[in-house]
Amino acid sequence: MAEHESLEFGKADFVLLDNVSLEEFMANLKLRFEKGRIYTYIGEVVVSVNPYRAMNIYGRDTIEQYKGRELYERPPHLFAIADAAYKAMKRRNKDTCIVISGESGAGKTEASKYIMQYIAAITNPGQRAEVERVKNMLLKSNCVLEAFGNAKTNRNDNSSRFGKYMDINFDFKGDPIGGHINNYLLEKSRVIFQQEGERSFHSFYQMVKGGPESLLRSLHVSKDPTAFNYIKVGGHIKSTIDDGGDFKAVADAMKVIGFTADELQTVYKVLATILHLGNLTFGVDGDTTLIENSKVVAVIGDLLATKEENVEKALLYRTVATGRDVIDKQHTAQEASYGRDALAKAMYERMFCWIVGRINDVIEVKNYDAKVHGKNTVIGVLDIYGFEIFQNNSFEQFCINYCNEKLQQLFIQLVLRQEQEEYQREGIPWKHIDFFNNQIIVDLVELQHKGIFSVLDEACMNVGKVTDKVFLQGLNSKLANHAHYTSRKVHKSLEFDRDFRVRHYAGNVVYSVVGFIDKNKDTLFQDFKRLLYNSSNPVLKVMWPEGKLKITEVTKRPLTAATIFKNSMIALVENLACKEPYYVRCIKPNDVKSPLLFEHERCRHQVEYLGLLENVRVRRAGFANRQEYPRFLQRYKMISEFTWPNHDLPSEKEAVKKLLQGCGFEQDVAYGKTKVFIRTPRTLFCLEEQRTEMV
Ligand code: ADP
Ligand code: MG
Repeated sequence: MAEHESLEFGKADFVLLDNVSLEEFMANLKLRFEKGRIYTYIGEVVVSVNPYRAMNIYGRDTIEQYKGRELYERPPHLFAIADAAYKAMKRRNKDTCIVISGESGAGKTEASKYIMQYIAAITNPGQRAEVERVKNMLLKSNCVLEAFGNAKTNRNDNSSRFGKYMDINFDFKGDPIGGHINNYLLEKSRVIFQQEGERSFHSFYQMVKGGPESLLRSLHVSKDPTAFNYIKVGGHIKSTIDDGGDFKAVADAMKVIGFTADELQTVYKVLATILHLGNLTFGVDGDTTLIENSKVVAVIGDLLATKEENVEKALLYRTVATGRDVIDKQHTAQEASYGRDALAKAMYERMFCWIVGRINDVIEVKNYDAKVHGKNTVIGVLDIYGFEIFQNNSFEQFCINYCNEKLQQLFIQLVLRQEQEEYQREGIPWKHIDFFNNQIIVDLVELQHKGIFSVLDEACMNVGKVTDKVFLQGLNSKLANHAHYTSRKVHKSLEFDRDFRVRHYAGNVVYSVVGFIDKNKDTLFQDFKRLLYNSSNPVLKVMWPEGKLKITEVTKRPLTAATIFKNSMIALVENLACKEPYYVRCIKPNDVKSPLLFEHERCRHQVEYLGLLENVRVRRAGFANRQEYPRFLQRYKMISEFTWPNHDLPSEKEAVKKLLQGCGFEQDVAYGKTKVFIRTPRTLFCLEEQRTEMV
């Protein structure tokens, strides 16, 4: 049994439910939430419900309670999982990872931070300076990443708009010596547009509201966010966020991490450039496209350390190679606006990746020689977007939901594999368990030549009429017979020439193809790249190395956004697959950020699509519980005359056998090499009850 809590708080492990039914699962989840027990196990998986209030369960004293303990010895907690991952890494030299999933606002990012804090707190007892430095950097990096990668959305005031995977490297002593961050698919469309009630990335408001006068003056930026088209919508929002205070905190964190004054200045210049770009408007005069507010162009030229006329030319013309000739082709006003927005998005995204890269330079493992010091082991923490179903689902949701299919596939493989391997290791016969395998949906998306991404890429390569409609027709003709694909033909509620539906493992999602082609091609005219590369600001130049290519050298078919994302997901999953996984499954109890409300239907849906019930079943189909012999004995020896206070049997394994025989549980257990496996939760209950009676 997982803890010393009384049953008034419900079952600490869903495996202990009397019946595995959705009703019982939900009742237990609700009861625990209402009693302030936000964590519950499914074996070694933590299910977490966002409490939406400060909980007094993350302090130093709590950390001490979990340090070095086994999972079931304390009430369920993130710290227990972090400790389990850490122990596996330290005791068995295993690379481990903690995968945190759940929908937006469910508490993933907070969980990832608590896990990192826990690891930081329990390591480096020797107070080695270098280890302290690394830990400090790792913790500081969160604040910087959140400033540039998070935004207020209608679901979450501090919503991560990118996926994050962070490796923490440990030396042979088990102390952190470095790390590495991978970021995935920043939602860059937010730079130019936000839904009603939402904001752009925090960084813009932080600078506008918190930047010192002198800085803002040099950037030609006023203190009023509503003066800038790109952030105007969100600029009206009164929020509880302290942008001004955060500006200082982020700047300080960046300095500590090692960003130079020039680098910091360049970051502000890029932010300001983007704000000014948003205010540019284009008009026509006869055959000529022109910029209506040319003063802004001068400002941008200044910020980008380049000539005003270079900026103007890049905004209004495109260099094209026709055969051997290179000509300047003028944009229409519409093309120019498109180019302006693409530039703003690309500059922000590129800067974000550059920031991540600079953090990586600083935290990367240095001076570690595995030959001298032994293997350097890793704990990875994945905090990545959960499944999304919106009113209108586009390319971004499609990518995000594909990512979740990949992770679900990994979960299936790993949880099964992990169980199987443990049984093999312990010499216990393995019984196959059946459940829905979503590989078929993964294939539907990513399969070469046949998958949705391939069809999309093909449509993008078409010369001539490259439209979203052509893409949809391609899908409908290629995938009509796929069990998880539905076209308008089959389902009349879908909009003609616009929608297709995918049956995801988590449910049906209707996608609108509008914008797919454009977002997938993700075109940024080479002229802009050249403009930025030719800047006399060296920091900016570094961000745009491909700007040095001449027009004739530029590849005609750069990788598409879908291909880049697919490749990054495949690499991520490969990386995770060779680690020992731990899972945190986050649930959002309501849509109004209330600490009191448990919206049954909302929660039920999440429980279903996270596959939690299946998870319980898998866990119970095998052995509900397993414990190493010495630990088991220590916990239960008082219930048997053969083992209390001491036993005279040849081994602890023999002693456990004798104990269990004496209690009549012989039928329900199996003896592995180092652990005793208990099949049904009932047995564990009885043991616990008897134990409670004795103590
Ligand atoms: P996600 O990353 O899943 O989108 P966050 O981790 O950003 O969600 O959590 C959203 C908000 O919920 C946080 O800003 C915080 O207010 C609240 N929250 C989440 N987890 C906790 C927690 N363990 N304790 C208290 N509040 C929490
Ligand atoms: Mg988040």
